[in-house]
Amino acid sequence: MARLIALQAGHCTHPACMALQGAGWRSRCFPSRAYLIETQRGWVLWDTGYADRLLHWMNQGVYRLYGWTTPVQLPPSQTIRVQLHQRGLSPRDVHTVVVSHFHADHYAGLDDFPHSRVLCSEAAWRSVGSLRGLSAVRHAFIPELIPSNLESRLVFVEQRPVCPLPSSLSPYVTAWDVLETGELLVVPLPGHARGHLGAFVQTDSGWVLLASDAAWDPQSYRALTPPSRLSYLVQDSRRDHLATLRQLHALHEGGQARILLTHEPAEEGSP
Ligand SMILES: [Zn+2]
Repeated sequence: MARLIALQAGHCTHPACMALQGAGWRSRCFPSRAYLIETQRGWVLWDTGYADRLLHWMNQGVYRLYGWTTPVQLPPSQTIRVQLHQRGLSPRDVHTVVVSHFHADHYAGLDDFPHSRVLCSEAAWRSVGSLRGLSAVRHAFIPELIPSNLESRLVFVEQRPVCPLPSSLSPYVTAWDVLETGELLVVPLPGHARGHLGAFVQTDSGWVLLASDAAWDPQSYRALTPPSRLSYLVQDSRRDHLATLRQLHALHEGGQARILLTHEPAEEGSP
């Protein structure tokens, strides 16, 4: 069984209705989480959240657009390095960082883990590899945050073994058993970004689905209330996203897995 620890690495603010249709234009806080996972193979980090380097680049050139649309706060106590240190860990103890997708708030801290292998979807990596300038910003991607030696450390989930999932996790049927221990079972959750990933984590208290940005608010899969249509200007595919919400809805109704979203309100996003 794996142990899951939710870390909050900063937050941004954005109009509530972007996350949930009809929620109004009031500003809402979106925590940015990373998940530390203790497994039989050691420590794994699921996404990195915000990092100081992102704050720097958000003040440079065209990347200012990123900061204007989603103003970010990252108190020093919420950097991943500090939170690892508080647990007696260092970045060297994290043998694998999984990047659910290449939006900057999910991979900005990769430079803190120069020795870790990095797991992601090949489709996700290929979709951002050549993005620069405005087209990069439109995809919430800042190329300068990619470590120079990343390609030599990348492992694509598509190359990992596929395993069947328990029928209790229907409608999900198969997953990539990325650690080959059955503790971290990665599934595609398409629509938000190209190659967007989630993962079933087998914990002492049952299955948890880390659903990343498949939704920004639990009501999107509980009540099937989609985000603003405007949000699809920055998401990959509305059709795929709505299909993913319907699958999450079915999983939620089955009651056999707890769904955790990266940016949902604080009382819901912690294991
Ligand atoms: Zn995202």
